[in-house]
Order: sequence, then C-alpha cells, then structure tokens
Amino acid sequence: MLSDSQKKFDREHIWHPYTSLTNPMPVYAVESANGVKLKLDDGRELIDGMSSWWCAIHGYNHPTLNAALQAQISKMSHVMFGGITHEPAIELCKRLVDMTPVGLEKVFLCDSGSISVEVALKMTFQYWHSLGKTEKGKLLTIKKGYHGDTFGAMSVCDPEGGMHHLFAPMLPQHVFMKEPTSSFAEGLNQTEQDELENTFKNHHHEIAAFILEPIVQGAGGMRMYSPEYLVKARELCDRYDVLLIFDEIATGFGRTGELFAANHADVSPDIMCVGKALTGGMLTMAATICTSKVAETVCAGEAGVFMHGPTFMANPLACAVSIASLDILASGAWKEQVRNIESWLESGFKSLAINANVKGVRVLGAIGVVECKQDIDTAEIQKYFVEKGVWIRPFRNLIYLMPPYIAQEEDIAKLCAAIGGSLEYEHHFKLKTTVEIEQ
Ligand SMILES: *Cc1c(COP(=O)(O)O)cnc(C)c1O
Repeated sequence: MLSDSQKKFDREHIWHPYTSLTNPMPVYAVESANGVKLKLDDGRELIDGMSSWWCAIHGYNHPTLNAALQAQISKMSHVMFGGITHEPAIELCKRLVDMTPVGLEKVFLCDSGSISVEVALKMTFQYWHSLGKTEKGKLLTIKKGYHGDTFGAMSVCDPEGGMHHLFAPMLPQHVFMKEPTSSFAEGLNQTEQDELENTFKNHHHEIAAFILEPIVQGAGGMRMYSPEYLVKARELCDRYDVLLIFDEIATGFGRTGELFAANHADVSPDIMCVGKALTGGMLTMAATICTSKVAETVCAGEAGVFMHGPTFMANPLACAVSIASLDILASGAWKEQVRNIESWLESGFKSLAINANVKGVRVLGAIGVVECKQDIDTAEIQKYFVEKGVWIRPFRNLIYLMPPYIAQEEDIAKLCAAIGGSLEYEHHFKLKTTVEIEQ
C-alpha cells in the first residue's frame, strides 16, 4: 500500500499523461496485474477495459511473454544496433515482413509509436528528395486523426483536438481534408469521393504522402469508416504520385477483427507504422515498414543512407517479447476471441444505444464506443467505475472499451453494465454540450 508521503510526492512531482501538476487528476495505485485484472494496492480488483491503451492484448502477467523476457535477459538486455545485429531483431523483422500486407518488406525498429511516425515522415521526405521533387513538401491527412505527441506526428493530428494553436509557431502547415463520414458497414459516399478527388487534384504537386489511420480513427474521436475509403485513397495516391502511409499503431495485431485494418480493404500502403500491441504490452517498441521501392529510392539519394538511428533501436528484450507475442497471435486463437468480444459488445451495448444521454454506439472487432451527448467528467465517472470493479478511462464525450483478447463473456458483461449504470448520474457529465460530430 502506498504511504501518504508517496502519494503526496506523486501529486507534487510527477507528470501523468495530459494532466496538470498544479491541479492533478486523481490516480489509482496499481500493485499488480494478472489476466484481465488490475489489482489496486488496497486489494480491489478491476476488470481492465483498456488493455493499457491498446497494448496488453494477451492480458497481464502472461507466462509465455514472461518466459521470453526471462530467457532473453540472461543472454543480453541491450546492445547497440549500429554495426551489430542479433537473432531477436532478425526473427522479429521476418515475422513483421511475413504478416503485414503484401509489398511491405523493409523494417525500421523504433522506440515508440510517435517515433515510428517520425521515421515514416522522414522516409517520405528523403524519398522525394532523392527523386529531386522537393516541391513535395507537405503531407495530406484527414481531420479527427491522431498520430502521436512528437512534433512531426503532432503536425498531422486533428487541428482542433490536437491543440495545434498552442504549438503553431513550431508546426509545419499541412493539408487537412474533411474526415470520412461513412460508417464501417457503408460504401464510399459522394461527399467523401468529391473531397478526396478535389484535394488530390488541387494539391498533389505539393503532397509528399497521405497519412491516415485505416478504418478506425482512435484517440482523435474513436471513429470508424468504410474500407472503400482506403481503396479510393490507394487509387488516388497511385494516379497522382503520392505515397500512402497507414498508421496501424492502434489498429494493428487483430484489434479490428483483421490482423491489420488494411486487410479489411485489401490495400497495401507504401509505409506502415505499428506499435502499441507489438510487444503484447510488455515494453515500448514500434516499427516502420516500407516497400522495397521506398527503401531503394531513399538510399539512392544524396545521403546514401536513411538518416535515423535511436540509441535503443532493436532492443533485444523488446524484440524477444514481441516475437513471443506474435507467435501467440500466429496460433490463430485471437480471431475467434475478437469475434466473440465483438458480439458480446454488440449485445451489451443494445440497451445503451437507447439511453437518453447517448448519441450513438459503435462496435468493430474488440473495440466498443459509446458516444455521449455531453462531455464526461473523467474523474467523477472513474470513481464510479472503480467502485463497480472495472477500469475504463473515457475522454471528451467518449466511453470506450478495448479489452484484452482473453476477456470472457462475464467480463464484457460487467464492463457494459458499469457503463450502463454510469449513464444514470448527471454529475458524471459536464454541462457543456460537445461540438456535434457530423455523421
Ligand atoms: C498511440 C498512437 C500513436 C503514438 O504512439 P506512442 O507509442 O504513444 O508514441 C500514434 N498513432 C496512433 C494511431 C496511436 O494510437
């Protein structure tokens, strides 16, 4: 159990994600985690609805993942990757090349999702530099997106939700398109088609790459859209000579019901970012995977090399645990697990969809979203969730679930019931009504 002085130190000295140090949000002390449960230091157990932000797909304290780390730690925890290679890196990259959409062949291992986006952007600009097309100096993206917190990544996040104005003097200006308005089950609509075609026609000469989260826009609003949008994006990128970058950091490794969201559309990007669930949630690691054409063009340029190389590149512990996590996925059980979670979420959300405080619900794979009419008071609602024995962390007007794939029917039922109960209390909502999302 944390002492009062430890808690005081946390409040006074430690930043948590997106929080104030002068008026911090409450935090809960977790002592251990096992399976789908987080155990608080007062002994209470919570069913985890978040997979620690998309990462812990196999649940916590998984014996296979633990064993992979233990085996690797006794050989070497880390060694530089410049001038050195090792089996964990080779075996991991082999698996990534095999499992990712066809054409993605060359792997750059990075420390985190945001960095993998930076790497993708640098590859893009080196690519056009090599071809002497330096007028291609901008990126194209869609609104309501999220690509990370570093400067390059932030410059393609949603201009409003991403708080661009705070950093405006330091952010490059890119081209933003209206976000897709179709749902997952629909086809490409006329508005989307016009927006895509007009933007490409008007801007292609200055556009280096089109970057987007395929099928599911995560932290920018938990929105889901038509696979046909990706087919159209690929077609236009080919027609107008623009690279296509898929940020699969949230969607990758089975979460949407396919191994990668790109598989719903059977489209291959030129560059793809993966992260989050790559290590099964055990360590930080991401990868940027590109086609042979991108890699060869980058290396044919003035520098002759790709200009990036983090200190902890290809960390052997992270590689070893990623291999173990991908091997669990390769056994194939995830597919039925995700399909089951999808149907349990669909039935659990039925009664929520008609609640007076709810604007709409949507489910895809092991992702469930309850969009409320008003913004949520996260601290208040979280107190309720913890009392009900679940861990759910809403943002803005969104209560969402992305549980570990090992979650059972009763776990999902408990998560859904807690959300249903939480909607009955006015003090869980802020008075302000959120900007209507047009869809
Ligand atoms: C989380 C996320 C990132 C950033 O990854 P970090 O590991 O937090 O840097 C980038 N893109 C998407 C789609 C994400 O969900």
